Amino acid sequence: MNTKEKDLKYIMHTYGRYDVALKSGKGVTAFDEDGKRYIDVSSGIGVNSLGYCDDGWVKAITEQASAIQHMSNYFYSKQASDLAEKLCTLTGLAKVCFGNSGAEANECAIKIARKYSFDKYGAERNEIITLKNSFHGRTVTTLAATGQEVFHNFFFPFTKGFKYAEPNDLDDVKNNIDEKTCAIMLEVVQGEGGVNILDKDFVQSVAKICADNDILLIIDEVQTGVGRTGKLFAHEHYDVKPDLMTVAKGLGGGLPIGVCLCGEKLKDVMSPSTHGTTFGANPVVCAGANYVLDTIANEEFLNKVEEKGAFLEEKLLELEGVKSVHRLGLMVGIEIDGDAHDIAAKCIQNGLLIITAKNLLRMLPPLIITKDELCEAVNILEKTLKENEQ
Ligand SMILES: *Cc1c(COP(=O)(O)O)cnc(C)c1O
Repeated sequence: MNTKEKDLKYIMHTYGRYDVALKSGKGVTAFDEDGKRYIDVSSGIGVNSLGYCDDGWVKAITEQASAIQHMSNYFYSKQASDLAEKLCTLTGLAKVCFGNSGAEANECAIKIARKYSFDKYGAERNEIITLKNSFHGRTVTTLAATGQEVFHNFFFPFTKGFKYAEPNDLDDVKNNIDEKTCAIMLEVVQGEGGVNILDKDFVQSVAKICADNDILLIIDEVQTGVGRTGKLFAHEHYDVKPDLMTVAKGLGGGLPIGVCLCGEKLKDVMSPSTHGTTFGANPVVCAGANYVLDTIANEEFLNKVEEKGAFLEEKLLELEGVKSVHRLGLMVGIEIDGDAHDIAAKCIQNGLLIITAKNLLRMLPPLIITKDELCEAVNILEKTLKENEQ
């Protein structure tokens, strides 16, 4: 059996895969098992922030793997402490809790929000308002947090205590707030929901309501974080400060990590045995994340992300068949004539690894992509759109 046949026989069919088996990669280029070359503007859904197999990143994780590959959270770890210090220093937040994925980081934020409110106001004040069209993960609780009806199926009963408000509709948020509300959770750019960039006024007003009422502001930066939008974290575009922030996808540079960060007033909410995970703070993963932050967290690198994003947007808007572009930094949604899934499959056949969000094409290229590589990607998209018209 080849890779595809084995996959179909032995792996549960939770993903509809494109017809490609990837074997290796370097930078923005990937190769499949037949040696065919692809330009990758998907980064494994925003994960490979430095592209495939960045030399410094590979060195950092292999050195750590040869020193100590795992230890339990009952011991101190330099890689984890260094990473925590970096994250707190860079964000002005106070403490972190490590996990292994975006969904877990959000679970952690939800637990902290509820415990803070429990300790201070009692068990009844436990509701969290999220936004329609959001995406917060696939666990039973983070599915409940996700404000899309399509995700609230099959796995009943879902976790109680979530309400959904319209994005960019402050009145709807206000109407959902009552004495039970403990937190408001949002992505400032809704990724899976179609690269919807929230209004600055809206986010600032929500932050103010939160601050005035001791309601916690949870910002899910799982997809938007770590340089993706041209700032280290996307909420910096909005001049707001979250009480809780979650980070995952791009942070590990390709290894699984999820982090929940909290501000000063929450830093002692969690105590021993209120939360944990065996693999969290793994030293190899943290070594990779330390390398990613050391590379990305500086003005020069982040300014280039925005510059390349603007360049890409300009090129995309020149294409026939592109109706509009939703973009912040290198987080890009492309509205096209036609079915996005169908076009994405054809782009992939033509050597461009691209993804979708709702009925948009979506690009989350490695942040190290060059303008030449962006042009190559746009050329393949142009060719594919033309072929599709004939
Ligand atoms: C991907 C994503 C998640 C879930 O992360 P996993 O690592 O897949 O659990 C949560 N929130 C947002 C905004 C995401 O984009």
